[in-house]
Amino acid sequence: MSPDQHTWPQWATEPVRVVEPETSWAEAGAREKKELAAILAPFGIPEIQHIGSTSVPGLPAKPILDLMGQVPDFERIADIAGALAPYSWHYVPPELDQHPERRFFVKVKNDRRIAHLHILLAHSKRWEDQLLLRDELIRNPGLSARYAALKTSLSRQYELDREAYTKAKSAFIEDVLSGLRPSRKRRLIFATNNQHKVEEIQSAIGSDLEVISLQQAGIDIDIPEPHDTLEANASEKSATIHRLTGESCFSEDTGLEVDALNGEPGVKSARYAGEDRAFEKNVEKLLFKLEGSPDRKARFRTVISLILDGQEHLFEGICEGRILTTPAGSKGFGYDPVFAPDGEERSFAEMTLEEKNRYSHRRKAADKLVEFLRNK
Ligand code: IMP
Repeated sequence: MSPDQHTWPQWATEPVRVVEPETSWAEAGAREKKELAAILAPFGIPEIQHIGSTSVPGLPAKPILDLMGQVPDFERIADIAGALAPYSWHYVPPELDQHPERRFFVKVKNDRRIAHLHILLAHSKRWEDQLLLRDELIRNPGLSARYAALKTSLSRQYELDREAYTKAKSAFIEDVLSGLRPSRKRRLIFATNNQHKVEEIQSAIGSDLEVISLQQAGIDIDIPEPHDTLEANASEKSATIHRLTGESCFSEDTGLEVDALNGEPGVKSARYAGEDRAFEKNVEKLLFKLEGSPDRKARFRTVISLILDGQEHLFEGICEGRILTTPAGSKGFGYDPVFAPDGEERSFAEMTLEEKNRYSHRRKAADKLVEFLRNK
């Protein structure tokens, strides 16, 4: 027990108590669902689900209803907390909750917790897992009986330690879920909304693993790139997405390093000519700065930061080449029209994606990522 726990309300430190199932839980869950749907409708929360053990008929449970709702991002969580407060819902901020992938509320009556509300990000793995587990337990009485026996024995063992109790159950749950998702492709969130980059990386990774963009993962945030190295920016992006989703994910940061400009634009490549990140203006500025320069040597450098099972791994890819004097081609993006890789007359923008991938910095970094994943 932490030193200040004695000042916490009684409901925050209640012992774990698993009781025999009550038929009233289904009805109480339906009532909470309806009430929450009405309170949360103004926040565009499309549905509330009754989950967890009280949603499975016949399963012993802590007599606390679990409900969940989904949001595109957590930006309005303070307003949501304000709307829920009059209905006895207490917000447990993430610093206390220690589960960054959710925002958590506890409904308290007579100093006892009666319900939990988990607000999750739309389309998150956790949302799907909760529904998969609930529906399988309802469908499969044998499984439900085994789960009941485990819960009863763990609740005796960890009566005073809610977190330890939950952790001990999770091995069983993970086992059930992995059996339920045999055909679901493993997916990796790529912390970008640049569809070109998603396609480039997907083509390197092949079809065993699905690469999805932030948008496709239902995450609506613009992650800043404030650092002065590609490595630090990539790390910050993947750490942010991992904190939000709890899922394995990766990010990349790429810079064009031009020798005659002492490595510029480098980490500032996207915003070289201004905050609007306009490709044409960046290219124009680059050509202007290099006007008359005989030294056209340059390279693209990509750093990928992968967070797999909570551990970070970095991969680098470099493509040496030169800056052309005039733009050529209309494929690709960014500096592609003015960059020709060593051994080629054509710019990247004159090549198909397959051709670009023979040289591409991103492809080389992605190949290292794929090799690493293959050996996992
Ligand atoms: P980012 O910060 O990793 O998105 O990349 C910085 C900038 O580098 C982008 O906005 C593009 O202008 C440029 N860039 C990155 N990769 C490529 C590429 O493969 N071809 C051309 N330009 C690229």
